[in-house]
Amino acid sequence: MKGGRSILRESVQYLKGVGPRRAERFAKLDVHTGRDLLYHLPYRYEDATTVDAISELKVGQDATVIGRVVSKGVIPTRRRLRVFRAVLRDGSGHIECAWPGRPWLDRTIDKGDLLLASGPVRFYHGRQLQPREHIVLSRASDDRAAPADTSAERSAPPAERPAAGRVFPVYPATEGLTHRQIRAVVQLNLSRLLSDLGEEDPVPGDWLRELSLPPLAEALRTLHRPSAVAEVERCRRRLAFEELFFLQLLHARARARLRHEVRGFAFDAPPTLTRALLEALPFKLTAAQRRAWSEIEADMARSAPMNRLLQGDVGSGKTVVAALAMLKTIEAGRQAAIMAPTELLAEQHRRTFEKMLGPLGVEPDLLTGAVTGKARRQALERIATGDARLIVGTHALIQEGVDFAAPGLVVIDEQHRFGVEQRRRLRESGEAPDALVMSATPIPRSLALVLYGDLDLSIIDELPPGRRPIRTAVRGPESRDAAFDFLGDQLAQGRQAYVIYPLVEESEALEARAATVMFEQLQARFPDIAVRLLHGRLSSAEKDDAMRSFLAGDTGLLVATTVIEVGIDVPNATVMIIEDAERFGLAQLHQLRGRVGRGAEQSYCIVFHASETPSERLVAFEKKTDGFELAEEDLRIRGQGDLFGKEQHGAVLLRFAQLDRDFDLLEAGRRRARGIVEADPGLSKPAHRRFRHELDLRYARREALYHVG
Ligand code: ADP
Ligand code: MG
Repeated sequence: MKGGRSILRESVQYLKGVGPRRAERFAKLDVHTGRDLLYHLPYRYEDATTVDAISELKVGQDATVIGRVVSKGVIPTRRRLRVFRAVLRDGSGHIECAWPGRPWLDRTIDKGDLLLASGPVRFYHGRQLQPREHIVLSRASDDRAAPADTSAERSAPPAERPAAGRVFPVYPATEGLTHRQIRAVVQLNLSRLLSDLGEEDPVPGDWLRELSLPPLAEALRTLHRPSAVAEVERCRRRLAFEELFFLQLLHARARARLRHEVRGFAFDAPPTLTRALLEALPFKLTAAQRRAWSEIEADMARSAPMNRLLQGDVGSGKTVVAALAMLKTIEAGRQAAIMAPTELLAEQHRRTFEKMLGPLGVEPDLLTGAVTGKARRQALERIATGDARLIVGTHALIQEGVDFAAPGLVVIDEQHRFGVEQRRRLRESGEAPDALVMSATPIPRSLALVLYGDLDLSIIDELPPGRRPIRTAVRGPESRDAAFDFLGDQLAQGRQAYVIYPLVEESEALEARAATVMFEQLQARFPDIAVRLLHGRLSSAEKDDAMRSFLAGDTGLLVATTVIEVGIDVPNATVMIIEDAERFGLAQLHQLRGRVGRGAEQSYCIVFHASETPSERLVAFEKKTDGFELAEEDLRIRGQGDLFGKEQHGAVLLRFAQLDRDFDLLEAGRRRARGIVEADPGLSKPAHRRFRHELDLRYARREALYHVG
């Protein structure tokens, strides 16, 4: 950066063509400084290849045209709808455009304006375009009095069609600040902004050469003023890399901070218990389980504390791997705890571990809110003396008064329910135990690296052999009767089943009512079966009782809303019916389906769609059973924007990167980020100082969250 004040850091207010009022509107777009404006990039481009010649438009087509307004006006129709119409002309011909119900456009669109419009071509006294979207590319008035500092577009002849190679950038706009105004401001200031930026580039030149990416200034210039749309992608990737690299650097620092500043334990006792378990298991670990276990084992043997995410589909066998990690802890004379999101799941884990580890002489202790009185005092005492070696519990484990004699490992089941905050609380409880976070919600590796990049990642991407895939059927309302007959057959054979209702417009009351109605119908339909109802309006004691009755096999059919426990394990349950399935996300559907198929019998998942044809999402759900594949599909269908919106970091993390396309850049950025931080955790070497500076610029607000690890 050059000496003196740079307009990059100054408020946009002082840029040409802005001023205080417009600056406020720019603020709505999160554009505060000159630098922000430079990074406020078009979200799409139009050029000759995307623009249709007016003479060639066909009825029924979706078209984009660019033309001059040759006449316009508001015409009332018989139904008292006021329609704004404008006739556009390009070099090839003319067409009428109509905006029903938007008469006010008459005030913003003038005769002589150059307009880009896109939408369907209809038949209405001839061809008519009904724009979904339109942009005033230039004003009749601008063209008459073009300022000296003209853009390529303004100095071009007043084209009726864009010449080959002419590209119009389209910017994200906001109320009171049109696309065209933004473009004008950018064009007025671009040269100065870029010259202030100079050679400044947060990404080293040799990396760019290795990755065949352009330097920053060139990328920004091209993105604002491309001469061909084909140039754009390479420049977007340049910004995507920068973004991914710094995010990974942020993660790498959080990881390093924990590894270097906090002491952990090196678990390196002889593998007596772990070996005994492996020998006692009635099966062999899958290759994926072995890989995950050896990653965990190696990580635990190091003295830096482990912080690892163990991802695996429902039923992939995470529990055994967690058990091995806990035994390794116990071998080294320390205590292992596993924390479940609910009491019920904690109790389920306790039973599982009792069965699995009891024969090895390891008896799990339980500590939940439901453990009270004398039992609680005893548990606390055993935890404090170190007699309790494996403790299963809930949040109760991290409350006041729980004092571990020698904490070594915490396993956290279901990471999405335990946020950053809980992880921090665990860290604060004295020395740093190793942490293993288990998640049964598969997400694409790319997304995991972006969201949980501060954790190391182990993935179990393979199911144990011999599983019968759950048969999935996506059906319309006409199949309801047949489906419930089928359900009746299964129930009559002694199987258990679930019928699930989705959240109704975020209203627990409505949702409860819908489930209640269904519950009554099903009770009437299956008089010999014990049917129970479970929804969010019940007290926790009632909910608990319904769940327990189902677990014990006393209830045959459970009609429930989404309050149902995600980790519940009832091997005798073979049918899962999901109502109004469009309301669920793919991940949730997959979780629900995972409640069946846990025993020896063939299991079924029937999902109903309310619409005429099933959505793309449901079609994918019917075809695919692999959670990771479904997660990739979900990312593709929904787009990543949706996935970040409500994430725990509370902010959109990625603006330029597209996870489905930029995985190579993500890996490249991560490798470099980890390498740098390993060699220089404080980023204090001269070559790295600018990285630190850049991190501060980007994540000042966010980094506080990452002091967590
Ligand atoms: P997850 O916790 O990942 O959903 P679990 O650990 O509960 O899965 O395992 C599901 C079932 O598969 C359990 O009954 C478990 O004993 C069994 N299992 C785990 N690993 C294997 C394996 N390698 N081969 C056969 N069965 C296995
Ligand atoms: Mg499990």
